[in-house]
Amino acid sequence: MDQGTLRVELLPALTDNYMYLIIDGETKEAAIVDPVQPQKVVETVRKHGVKLTTVLTTHHHWDHAGGNEKLVKLEPGLKVCGGDDRIGALTHKVTHLSTLQVGSLNVKCLSTPCHTSGHICYFVSKPGSSEPPAVFTGDTLFVAGCGKFYEGTADEMYKALLEILGRLPPDTRVYCGHEYTINNLKFARHVEPNNTAIQEKLAWAKEVEKEFSGGVNTGGSRECSKTPSLFSPQGEDQRLATSLHLDLPPDPYLASHQQLKDHLLPPLVTFGGGTGTLGSEGPACGC
Ligand SMILES: [Zn+2]
Repeated sequence: MDQGTLRVELLPALTDNYMYLIIDGETKEAAIVDPVQPQKVVETVRKHGVKLTTVLTTHHHWDHAGGNEKLVKLEPGLKVCGGDDRIGALTHKVTHLSTLQVGSLNVKCLSTPCHTSGHICYFVSKPGSSEPPAVFTGDTLFVAGCGKFYEGTADEMYKALLEILGRLPPDTRVYCGHEYTINNLKFARHVEPNNTAIQEKLAWAKEVEKEFSGGVNTGGSRECSKTPSLFSPQGEDQRLATSLHLDLPPDPYLASHQQLKDHLLPPLVTFGGGTGTLGSEGPACGC
């Protein structure tokens, strides 16, 4: 957890989900992102002695929104935010660029439809502070990958990643909804075997996982804020597609990787730490 005014505690949940407790150190007010395991959230809130006021729901899938109903019973009076009427216990429907406060923290809602039509990412900052802001990306952006296109197109995902998330301040810390890092990078390596950035990032991810065994999200995810640099097609995917007799569109790059991923390694996804490829996320989104 960061020690400044904007503090984030990562709470692993289910098989590979992440919940995040966001604490405003100044007022001790807190928000929780995607509280699928409400009891764990309540215990963490008690441990820190903070006042939980807000639920930030990225999208309606059960492994993100499935704990909302129980949490509002455990902690009555919560403001439950989300961009989709299918979200349980929703009290505050938000749209693109809606804003709200958590204590002294500003929260800006960013609409990123594609994985689901009502998907929202939450950009959190402390006004007048030099602390880096944070963005909570749910199933839109992972470390080395992006979410499946359940209710949208490659064009929409491209816009979400490049034009919405990719334009956030470069020091933005990225907190994603699942721990898929190693699988994503393995797929990236499969697609671009000669990309040294992918190999280095994969080696790093394996080391970090060994050390912390709880996933590698926080450290590596900071690089995700540089999304534009993630798109640098090297031709590997097209060669691979040709050898597999797949009919891939030349552009956007993203669409071709969605098809490659579906044909090759269904559970995996990719983009390679700064210079690699981008595909779509695998299985456990369960969603
Ligand atoms: Zn999902």
